Amino acid sequence: MPGRMMQMPLLISSLLVHAARHAADTEIVSKRVEGDLHRSTWRDAERRSRQVAQVLDALGCEPGDRIGTLAWNGYRHLEIYYGCSGSQRVCHTINPRLFPDQIAWIVNDAADRVLCFDLTFLPLVEKLAPALESVRHFVLMTDRAHMPASTSIESLKCYEDLVEAQNGAYAWPSFDENTASSLCYTSGTTGHPKGAVYSHRSTVLHAYGAALPDAMGCSSADVILPVVPMFHVNAWGLPYAAALVGAKLVLPGPHLDGKSLHELFEGEQVTFSAGVPTVWLGLINHMKANGLKFSSFKRTVIGGSACPPAMMRTLEQDFGVEVIHAWGMTEMSPLGTLSKLKAKHQALDPQARHHLLEKQGRVIYGVDMAIVGDDGRALPWDGKASGDLLVRGPWVISSYFGRDDSPLRRLDGQDWFPTGDVATIDADGFMQITDRSKDVIKSGGEWISSIELENIAMAHPGVYEAAVIACKHPKWDERPLLVVVRKPGVDLSREEMLAFYEGRIAKWQAPDDVVFVDELPHTATGKLLKIRLREMFKGHVLP
Ligand code: ADP
Repeated sequence: MPGRMMQMPLLISSLLVHAARHAADTEIVSKRVEGDLHRSTWRDAERRSRQVAQVLDALGCEPGDRIGTLAWNGYRHLEIYYGCSGSQRVCHTINPRLFPDQIAWIVNDAADRVLCFDLTFLPLVEKLAPALESVRHFVLMTDRAHMPASTSIESLKCYEDLVEAQNGAYAWPSFDENTASSLCYTSGTTGHPKGAVYSHRSTVLHAYGAALPDAMGCSSADVILPVVPMFHVNAWGLPYAAALVGAKLVLPGPHLDGKSLHELFEGEQVTFSAGVPTVWLGLINHMKANGLKFSSFKRTVIGGSACPPAMMRTLEQDFGVEVIHAWGMTEMSPLGTLSKLKAKHQALDPQARHHLLEKQGRVIYGVDMAIVGDDGRALPWDGKASGDLLVRGPWVISSYFGRDDSPLRRLDGQDWFPTGDVATIDADGFMQITDRSKDVIKSGGEWISSIELENIAMAHPGVYEAAVIACKHPKWDERPLLVVVRKPGVDLSREEMLAFYEGRIAKWQAPDDVVFVDELPHTATGKLLKIRLREMFKGHVLP
């Protein structure tokens, strides 16, 4: 017997229409590349997104065409998100921190028709333009006053001119919710970038899931500042979740240094944020150096790579900010798990609570996970057995853009996406990443977690950043090597660092050696680039 409920496709435009109706005058504040602070509302965003849809019509874009963006977090980027997807085009956010060759490769692979970019990236796009074969229109996301006097880009278009030429008389179309809405390439820590194609349905369901109390816990009372860029897996879904709940949105533009962020957090009374661990390093250092506090900031999601427990404690104890540790990936839209306590954990002593909160957390409804051993069989959820982490769900990819081969694996009669991460899961469903499968250190047949060793190093007061990689060893096959960036002005020796591991971890798991460097290599999304580190220390001889 069929259910007798209305058939309404889950479309991204409905999030924006909802926000424009129910949070019409709720603000969207953007720090512009041009330098000033721009104020608009969800009502403005919806109207201007309709104008963007009309612009795409006028430029001759077809349904399904990819519209590339090279842009910071800002209101124009938000309008392009909604204007593209809402009119059946695919919003393709590109990470501008990638190497130029890689950007060109991605634009060509995606066959972007239009490329919209912030003023910051004009020199980059001028250099790349001749190699971007599919791009018909280059649109500079600024107003007439900021257009360059001359440029090598033929018929460069001005975003504000294009938008203002449209009257906004556009009705959001209705179509199949499984239609592609946006495209995001993996940041390439694992080889050539591959595109994840999200759908309207997956994006709306992900936004529902993201906003739940045991996930990001977003509400209309929040002022949300995504530090995570809109080109990093759609700012982890916040531009959609903020519309869904009708929250005020604060978009920091290119200014992600500690001072700029602190001023924006305070000036706009931000309550909630999200970002990778490295951005918080700068903010924490700036605040400590200047004796600053937060007056409104309550909680933040930290993910993208393991949040060092020491950072969690500093944010909580020194600044009163709850840290929600989260794990996900581009292929998962990106949210998979978040660390939130259950009722039964509330009475635990502080150390036991922290121990749980430091894990990557529990799945949001919609995501299912499993860990499997080398024999491909499911492992128990006992918090000890560690194996390859598999996931499935309505916002997990089934295949990559433009590729026919399936990335999926079979387990118990179902298709699963192999994450490339190695994890444990405890009886309460708390998942803990111990490594990426390629980063794991195999010493005498036993696995050593590089993340655990990095977390210990980060707890040392003299350590700014730390990474652990495997080093070849004649007897044990691999042994851990610790690479450390000291805090400025700190005198920290190899012996002192090694002694710090005593009593904190089994002796056989502690690093064999320590090297000090001025900085560590990072990916375009701020993660440790272990491939590069392994190359750098390939010939390193352990003592
Ligand atoms: P890429 O693989 O190109 O870096 P993603 O940005 O999608 O692409 O990265 C996803 C990966 O980041 C995960 O598979 C995992 O290895 C790592 N990661 C994300 N969040 C966490 C976390 N909280 N703790 C540890 N690792 C994490």
